[in-house]
Amino acid sequence: MKYKSTRGSSEELSFSEVLLSGLAIDGGLYLPSSYPYFNSHELSNMQNLSYPELAFLIMRPFIENDPTLKETQLQTILEDTYSNSNFDQIAPLIKIRENEFVLELFHGPTLAFKDLALQFLGRLFDETLKSENRKITIVGATSGDTGSAAIEACKNRGAINAFIFYPHNRVSEVQRRQMTTVNAKNIYCVAVDGTFDDCQDLVKAMFNDLSFRQEYNLSAINSINWARILAQVVYYFWAGLKLIGQKSSVSFSVPTGNFGNIFAGYLAKKMGLPISQLIVGSNSNDILTRLLKTRKMRLSSVLPTLSPSMDIQVSSNFERLLFLLYEGDSREICRLLDELRTKGSFCMRQKEFQKFTKLFDGDCFDDAQTKEIIKNVFEENEVLIDPHTAIGIAAARTQKKNNNVPVICLATAHPAKFPNTVQEATNVLPTLPKRLKNLYDDEEFVTILPNDLTVIKGYIKNTLSKKELR
Ligand SMILES: *Cc1c(COP(=O)(O)O)cnc(C)c1O
Repeated sequence: MKYKSTRGSSEELSFSEVLLSGLAIDGGLYLPSSYPYFNSHELSNMQNLSYPELAFLIMRPFIENDPTLKETQLQTILEDTYSNSNFDQIAPLIKIRENEFVLELFHGPTLAFKDLALQFLGRLFDETLKSENRKITIVGATSGDTGSAAIEACKNRGAINAFIFYPHNRVSEVQRRQMTTVNAKNIYCVAVDGTFDDCQDLVKAMFNDLSFRQEYNLSAINSINWARILAQVVYYFWAGLKLIGQKSSVSFSVPTGNFGNIFAGYLAKKMGLPISQLIVGSNSNDILTRLLKTRKMRLSSVLPTLSPSMDIQVSSNFERLLFLLYEGDSREICRLLDELRTKGSFCMRQKEFQKFTKLFDGDCFDDAQTKEIIKNVFEENEVLIDPHTAIGIAAARTQKKNNNVPVICLATAHPAKFPNTVQEATNVLPTLPKRLKNLYDDEEFVTILPNDLTVIKGYIKNTLSKKELR
């Protein structure tokens, strides 16, 4: 399988090359040149597979003829990542109303759905690099959740050094401690004196410095990485297959930030899973909902909300959807993105917009509505949900078109990650799982640095050169 950049001027790469490079040299995102399709007979054969078996079946076509990663290696990594004999405890599907379900994806080490893909990605990186006798440096900016999930995925993996940048004093204490209390020789937490956007700009600038990028083999572990999207496709099949059979199709509702999670749902549909609706849930940062209504993508400023992992204006993975809607017309994609950058908005062509609105529905909710749903679900079901999950459920309820089609709402974070909001809404304080109870006592390892590219690059350089000497 060969992969192409959405911007059309990078060379085609194999799966393992895409894995290790993250962002394409032309600034685009990678997508495969074709997709497998599973017919209804194949789907029914999938129903009795274990999670790692299902994952292997879905992922295998995407690594076909890979020069580095062999099928047997993929199989071993998937067994190692997802082998829990009772996967239903890792991703339980809970019914909360007639034809309304919650898929809890937050039972991983950092209590967010990102673990599900990143636990796989960490192992995949290590295995691929070992086969090539290479090392990489992961650099990542985080507003909280991605950082800890990436750290848990990379810690103590010999082929990886990871530098995670977060805005100093601008992440919650739980989020900060989940990152800084990990004591591993290959993990470096950096608190940057600046905002999340500053962190992201620093990381982008490091990627744009091609000699720095090559010297340190920079790579990314955020949702621009194709392997992460691919790993997410699996749980759509896993959950959908549980209900299909009794039902002819299912819908999904997804609290959306960078559009990585729901894009994986769209790919599941493209690959044959009978998905009726894909529903985008947004908070007050409603750029996608406005696009659905107006055909125009228009930037405004980022508003802080109770669901911080969705406080995003430009959803980076939306570029991948645009590429597929525009049937691979990279020139048009570059033009649209250029307009967004220079004028702050672009308008989709009628034809592609119609395809888009046929595939997706969406709705947005403010903080008061978010709390209302948390309260409502608790009163009705005695189930505590986090503010992100609440938005997905709220969107499912306003956007659902057919009451006979079950809708699966993806629960993306554990309620105990947002204890104050949940308590304010329900009068119940959610508790952290036992394994995280030491969080408040453990020692923190972090370096505070100014928002200065030269200083940050120097820090990476120094840290890595000291390691070489040892
Ligand atoms: C990252 C995150 C999201 C957004 O997911 P995207 O793939 O970026 O759309 C939603 N909820 C939580 C809790 C997250 O951590």
